[in-house]
Amino acid sequence: MGGPESVVMSGPAAAGWAGARREELRGRLVALGFDEVRFTTWAGPGPTGLRDWLEAGMQADMAWMERTREKRLDPGLVLPGVRTIILLGVNYWPGGPAQKTTPPDSFLPGSGPRWARYALHRDYHDTIKPGLAAAGRVLEELGGAMPEDYRYYVDTGPVQERGLAARAGLGFLGKNGMLISRRHGNWLFLATILTRLEIEPDQPLRKKPLPRAAAEPAGLLCGKCTRCLTACPTAAIPRPGVVDARRCISYHTIENKGVIPRELRAGIGDRVYGCDVCLEVCPWNRFARAARSVLLEATPAIAQLGLCELLELTPERFAEIFRGTAIKRVKRAGLLRNACVVAGNSGDRSLLPQLVKLAEASVPMVRAHAVWAVRKLAGEARAIALLQKSREAESEPAVLEEYTAPLA
Ligand code: SF4
Ligand code: SF4
Repeated sequence: MGGPESVVMSGPAAAGWAGARREELRGRLVALGFDEVRFTTWAGPGPTGLRDWLEAGMQADMAWMERTREKRLDPGLVLPGVRTIILLGVNYWPGGPAQKTTPPDSFLPGSGPRWARYALHRDYHDTIKPGLAAAGRVLEELGGAMPEDYRYYVDTGPVQERGLAARAGLGFLGKNGMLISRRHGNWLFLATILTRLEIEPDQPLRKKPLPRAAAEPAGLLCGKCTRCLTACPTAAIPRPGVVDARRCISYHTIENKGVIPRELRAGIGDRVYGCDVCLEVCPWNRFARAARSVLLEATPAIAQLGLCELLELTPERFAEIFRGTAIKRVKRAGLLRNACVVAGNSGDRSLLPQLVKLAEASVPMVRAHAVWAVRKLAGEARAIALLQKSREAESEPAVLEEYTAPLA
């Protein structure tokens, strides 16, 4: 990050950047590997749907969203004296035709478990951050900023990137709740730099400015399309622009540290980490071009992993394959849990030996999902026999419940 939060405003804020000077800055940041560079002025908090979303509990157990609420609503609390927010986008579309979307409970023949596209890279936080540090140095060199005059974040900061990116004209908020770029579709990592520098803002895509009292509504350029809402396998988008994390596969396979609700497991289908369905179906992706990958590093080996290999993942193999990726944060137990759900949905009975073994794993969460998968694949009568040993040894109430609860 840039400097500390409580710094008195200094000189550079007074000097505005516009015209050729602003374009020089934009060009320098594009040269660093950012595919989109847009500016918006911070004029103080306005309305946003964040409060309502939090109050409805749609953040599930992501308590950090609640904890950082006030800062998310007001970047001035993150960097006092902030004047400009620089929105940066990094394209991660690999090129080629869009992956087909499978309906819930089905698999693409011959394909392995499916991963969110963004995850098939070295952790983007690590690869984009050096670009942000270099961008900070550009602000110092061109604008006379001091390190304490800016702060930068990639994804994890208390910043509402998508709403700010829409204000900066980087794209619009889709009905899927994502920021959609007219040039890159749904495939952008977003990063932000808050700065005390005054930079002339870019125009939003919206031609008619919204009244100050109105929050940016989703779907500006969606027209009558509702593909993302209807394609979501777990009905997690109750209304345009609102994703209910409690039903979302991305949340459950990445953020949820515990048991995945049984009624959602079938909808997970073959998605072992994250979910791109509401992104994949969006017609705006047709404009996406292959990424330059200046700030990214693909990890193609992950996509080659078969389900059987995942179910047999040792701690050593997990460390070897997922070192330096965002996936490592779900830890081996989280990935095994997800793999059990995918195996249960696969219809592939050849996976039963691995699942029966996992029904005796040391982590209760893994045992619970393995039991579910065995019952789903083998059928009740055979499952009773296959799970007899693990059931006799089981004492954890949440796992015991999986032996008898309805499968969905
Ligand atoms: Fe639905 Fe998947 Fe989009 Fe979540 S990420 S809202 S589960 S389609
Ligand atoms: Fe909008 Fe359709 Fe894209 Fe959903 S799929 S975000 S409705 S254009």
